Amino acid sequence: MTERSSTFPKVLAIDDSVLIHRLLQVRLQHEEIQLFGATRADTGIKMARELRPDVVLLDIELDLKGQGMDGFGVLQVFKDDPDLQDVSVIFISGQSTMEERVRALDMGASDFVAKPFEIVELQARVRSALRVQKLVRMLAQKAQVDGLTGLWNRTYFDRRLSQEVGEAVRHGRSLSLVMCDVDRFKKLNDERGHPFGDKVLERLARIFQTGRGSDIACRWGGEEFGIILPNTVGSEAIEVADRYRRVIEQEVWPSVPGMVITASFGVADVLVLPNTPTTEDLVLAADAALYQAKMNGRNRVEAAVAAHLPG
Ligand code: GH3
Ligand code: MG
Ligand code: MG
Ligand code: MG
Repeated sequence: MTERSSTFPKVLAIDDSVLIHRLLQVRLQHEEIQLFGATRADTGIKMARELRPDVVLLDIELDLKGQGMDGFGVLQVFKDDPDLQDVSVIFISGQSTMEERVRALDMGASDFVAKPFEIVELQARVRSALRVQKLVRMLAQKAQVDGLTGLWNRTYFDRRLSQEVGEAVRHGRSLSLVMCDVDRFKKLNDERGHPFGDKVLERLARIFQTGRGSDIACRWGGEEFGIILPNTVGSEAIEVADRYRRVIEQEVWPSVPGMVITASFGVADVLVLPNTPTTEDLVLAADAALYQAKMNGRNRVEAAVAAHLPG
């Protein structure tokens, strides 16, 4: 690969013809892309997993010798891999039939170019694929962001927490979860109206974004928030939660002078959970602690204690 700005999108060409790679190198050198190349199906797949390219130029008629996989096989591997299934794949082929081209598009390829290709056409198709790719990524990101608060939503929370729990358990590291529930929020909605309730949720979300860069603040549901704190032991997480608790309690609401809004918090650390904790165990433990905080008078932080855990 030639030295290019590492912010440029990545294009990976998988083709068994060295000639094609040379041609692409020369003819795509003025495009704002980073070009990578592989001449075999297996190395192409390996590179795709490492590089996470934006666009793949894929030869349908990859040489099968000793690899048992042509371009269709490579495409199938991409589509079966959650990390690669959104990559834009442009098929390149010399003698493919119409049926093969249809099959490739039906399998999820985004475009098709016939060999020998006009380089300006290929350049235009790569640019077009990159535009689509950018939109797909924006939509995927949007689907994980809560519309009201801009925090990560429940879908993201579930996925990320299971990833973080897996890693913490594997490496024997701590990982804390802080669950927050606004106190008497129904009453607030009833008295001040739903739009005011929404404003409160937006403000709280901004408060939860003032934490450490590695903390992951999510809207768990309604007026409940979940904050994932990687590499954080329970005692530190209690301090974090208590800081949020105090900030919320002291928040000034100009449209309702003198009003005080409070929230309750439950904290759990994977290290206090018995056996090999799952995501569900951690959520249940933090939720049980939150319930305790409500029972003990609200506007407080409680932590899961090993002795009180179910199971
Ligand atoms: P507690 O102190 O026990 O938590 O009391 P609470 O009233 O907060 O508890 P409850 O779970 O009964 O009420 C939550 C309320 O949150 C009910 C629901 O109308 C409101 N709510 C949920 N989502 C939203 C939202 O997006 N906007 C607004 N304004 N209110 C919401
Ligand atoms: Mg070939
Ligand atoms: Mg609630
Ligand atoms: Mg509540």
